[in-house]
Amino acid sequence: MLRRFASNAAASLRSKDASFNAFVSFTDSPKTENGPLNEISIALKDNICTSGLPTTCGSAMLQDFRSPFDATVVKLLKEAGAQIVGKTNCDEFGMGSLNIHSIHGPVINPFRNDSRRAAGGSSGGSAAAVAAGLCDAALGTDTGGSIRLPASYCGVVGFKPSYGLVSRYGVVSYADSLDTVGVLAQDVQKVQKVFQYINKRDHNDPTSVGVRYREKGRVLAMESVQRWDGESLKGLRVGIPQEYFPSELTSTSSCILSSIRRLLVQLRSLGAFIVPVSLPSTEYALSAYYVIASAEGSSCLSRYDGIQYGLRVPPPPGFDLTSTSKIYAHTRSQGFGREVRKRILLGTYALSADAFDNFFLQAQRVRQIVRNDFDRVFSIENVLYSEMTSEESKVEGPGVDGVDVLIHPSTIRTAPHLDNVSDASRERDTIQDYVQDVLTVPASLSGLPALSVPMQTSSSLTPSPPGKGYQEQAGGEDKNRDGWPIGVSIVGQWGTDELVLRVGQVVE
Ligand code: GLN
Repeated sequence: MLRRFASNAAASLRSKDASFNAFVSFTDSPKTENGPLNEISIALKDNICTSGLPTTCGSAMLQDFRSPFDATVVKLLKEAGAQIVGKTNCDEFGMGSLNIHSIHGPVINPFRNDSRRAAGGSSGGSAAAVAAGLCDAALGTDTGGSIRLPASYCGVVGFKPSYGLVSRYGVVSYADSLDTVGVLAQDVQKVQKVFQYINKRDHNDPTSVGVRYREKGRVLAMESVQRWDGESLKGLRVGIPQEYFPSELTSTSSCILSSIRRLLVQLRSLGAFIVPVSLPSTEYALSAYYVIASAEGSSCLSRYDGIQYGLRVPPPPGFDLTSTSKIYAHTRSQGFGREVRKRILLGTYALSADAFDNFFLQAQRVRQIVRNDFDRVFSIENVLYSEMTSEESKVEGPGVDGVDVLIHPSTIRTAPHLDNVSDASRERDTIQDYVQDVLTVPASLSGLPALSVPMQTSSSLTPSPPGKGYQEQAGGEDKNRDGWPIGVSIVGQWGTDELVLRVGQVVE
């Protein structure tokens, strides 16, 4: 009886999802554990391994793959009693910003049905599933923005935790030094509820941070929360990074600027100090991110060789079977989609002997200065690096003059029309897709917690707060308002995830 009920539930979910394409597989077996998450239905991005359902990563390379085990995050959620309802669509191996690079087809943004818009990527299926009310929460992965960007486009909350807090054991790697697992839901409280059960040290993941650092970060976060009264934001110091209002944003989306202005006025009226800050290396972050992510991606994906692992495309008659490299190339050029092949080529080039110094090493240097920028503005020290960094390369923090959190728009625009970005239009300038990540990659390069919360997009405007970039346009009726959602991001120092979530609760 229970089983029949469960498979009926799967059929109903399947039919509700037909117009969004958010899911790629559905659970039809009933949950077994009793626990604190019993009331919560959760969807999992399809790059998170599950023993009961396929894990395709949106790729032909893994279309028949079934993991022999559950990822640690899945195990933890099941132990807490969560009901896993299915797996969600994503860009192939997490590479993309629009969820258009998937063998399962694009995800349709459920926010409104009067135009076909992208859900954002790469965790587009997870964001759309939450936005359409098909599940209470969803796990996604965020390497350079893949939770925050689709959350912003679909009008839901998306949280990328500090790097190293949530286990990546059983999560298919895109770029190991950047990959994080996070949560999407309709409100911050639900995100918080799910996050507390997956925020655990895992000895199976060598990048899982030890208890000592977690505890240090948590204590600093709570000290900051206690300094301002959680309800009113009194005394909270909010930094507005002037570089997060780039020309791409100011020229196309005045609705984003006006909404941010409105939000800042509200924050001020709740007692927060609004402090203009500068993160001067921001402009180099996007290029450094794409070099590092592609380099690590090319290395992580080298395991899909068609010989021991992943899809194998049988060579045509007359093929030279003595050449392993030809067999390898034959399978990989058919098993991987166009975007993934491009990243593998870029990444392999960046790691080649001729290019290594100029590209890969240079990008790593930029990564360090991006991190230093953050450490110079936060009042809270970076507990992860303060002990590991040598005295002479330590960055002097601002102390009490620093800020507790940073706030900036999550994206430079609202969700684009799918027809304009379809994978079929090959001549399209795909650099524009990369530019979507310009505001999300700095926190990724620095491993910082970042939360995207939907902003109110009312056109009732209030006077501009002081600052630089965001002051450029005077208030007035918002002509570019298209009625689609946009998110505001709250970013904190490493390990202060609880602080970021608490501020998020007040902001939403
Ligand atoms: N759009 C970025 C990329 O393609 C980020 C992806 C992600 O966070 N998984 O690399």
